[in-house]
Amino acid sequence: MKYKPFADETDPISIVGFGASPLGNVFGPTSRSMDETLVGSAVDHGINFFDVSPYYGQGHAEERLGAALKPHRKDVFLATKCGRYGVDRFDFSSDGILRGVEESLVRLQTDHVDLLQVHDIEFGDINQIVNETLPTLVGLRDEGKTRFIGITGYWPGLLSRTLERFRTHSVLNYCHWNFFADDMDASLTPMCQRLGLALINASPLHMGLMSGGSIAPWHFAPANVREKADEAVQICREFGVEPGIAAIAKCLQHPYVTSTLVGIADLHQVKSACAAVDVQLPALLVERLNQLFAPVLNVCWPQGRPENQDASFRESEQPVAKA
Ligand code: NAD
Repeated sequence: MKYKPFADETDPISIVGFGASPLGNVFGPTSRSMDETLVGSAVDHGINFFDVSPYYGQGHAEERLGAALKPHRKDVFLATKCGRYGVDRFDFSSDGILRGVEESLVRLQTDHVDLLQVHDIEFGDINQIVNETLPTLVGLRDEGKTRFIGITGYWPGLLSRTLERFRTHSVLNYCHWNFFADDMDASLTPMCQRLGLALINASPLHMGLMSGGSIAPWHFAPANVREKADEAVQICREFGVEPGIAAIAKCLQHPYVTSTLVGIADLHQVKSACAAVDVQLPALLVERLNQLFAPVLNVCWPQGRPENQDASFRESEQPVAKA
């Protein structure tokens, strides 16, 4: 495993992070009886960054991760989120955040988290997030309930514009830098570099499209993207490379990203995610995949309030390639 500093030099986090949404059965059922072994294996492989949310399985993922992490709590960097509690359940108010965080800490069996993030800002009123939600997180930091604060979301442009108004320690963006997309680098990466913020890149498999297995029924990607993913899985197999490893290894090549968060559901996926750290993908495979994805690079889908969609998407007849 390799590590990078998070926000300051004292907090190196693993460049592969354990995304715990699968513990909320977000992609399909996972076995609770395996949690301790799974989390223990991740820790043994050097993963020290764990990310969860009350949204994943409506508290289920936090509860399971909290129990499994108990023996390891002091050795890991634990991130959770607030503000999103269901597909259509959001509460970015100060009262809602305070209540939500207390409930998260109980489920996680800890008195503080290392990182508290506002979850999916595109579903909120950005003025409220800047003027009410984030100041509440600062208060929680002052009380010692979290060490760092951050924002998360789908649209890299919206995240950059929000960071211009309120500087956090970190930002998490998903599905915008992997084989399917590179537009995280248009504004968000340069802003993080300029401000020295931690940048967390989530969903290297494009929320499972590169898993080679079944796709979650709720997945938003349009048919042309899914077709390319199916072809990409075949191409990886022709080269004798596990598609999941190829997808994660690609993300680990990003020059600035602090950590890449992988949704991990079983022991094999722990091993694959960690193996990706030392994999050198064949140049010809990367070339074939880049060529394959070029026609659908940066194809997006609607997420959040209409006014919060990134401009390049709003201006297009959706969903089409932005490149
Ligand atoms: P992902 O791209 O990591 O895909 C996860 C899916 O791929 C799961 O079904 C998983 O079981 C499967 N998988 C993982 N490794 C595999 C392998 N080697 N081979 C085959 N299949 C494999 O997508 P994700 O889970 O959405 O993203 C990772 C994490 O990032 C999440 O768990 C969450 O912690 C975080 N995240 C946060 C936000 C947000 O804050 N808005 C959004 C997306 C993701």
